[in-house]
Amino acid sequence: MLTPLPESNSIFIAALVFATERHRNQRRKGMDHLPYVNHLVAVVDLLWRVGGVRDPEVLAAAFLHDTVEDTDTKPEELERLFGVRVRILVMELTDDRSLPSPVRKRIQEEHAASLTLEARAIKLADKISNVDDVLHRPPFGWTKGRRQEYIAWAGRVVDRLRGDWPALEAEFDRLLAGH
Ligand code: ZN
Repeated sequence: MLTPLPESNSIFIAALVFATERHRNQRRKGMDHLPYVNHLVAVVDLLWRVGGVRDPEVLAAAFLHDTVEDTDTKPEELERLFGVRVRILVMELTDDRSLPSPVRKRIQEEHAASLTLEARAIKLADKISNVDDVLHRPPFGWTKGRRQEYIAWAGRVVDRLRGDWPALEAEFDRLLAGH
């Protein structure tokens, strides 16, 4: 017989449904054009398996972390559906799309050190997933130089996040050491 999920876990299922629907027409930039949701699954899997994260709100925020930045989703909507903590976590991880990419990258680097503990875990898992994609499924047309530049930048962001999530940090290092 199926055991019903505890009520606290239902927020995670709701986030999974919401994010899958919002990102439904998006694909990753990699040359095998994986569905965008594969990235979200990778991030949540890393948090659960490597980071040992079991907090349903943090796992929900991980599934939702790109909805405001990359889909037509408003922070207020996240707060109404998932609560204020999830909204704040997602916004900690959301870049301002109105700024040019180099500026966004610089701001991300600067802000990394001031992220909350839970946002750091999600950011680390996000960077592991993104670097894994750039190493193994590089976006079409990216030169070796551009890939190296991206990985160096991700490494600088990760360096500013270090100290709280040793297993995730080691996973990032292992990924780079293999290359
Ligand atoms: Zn992401």
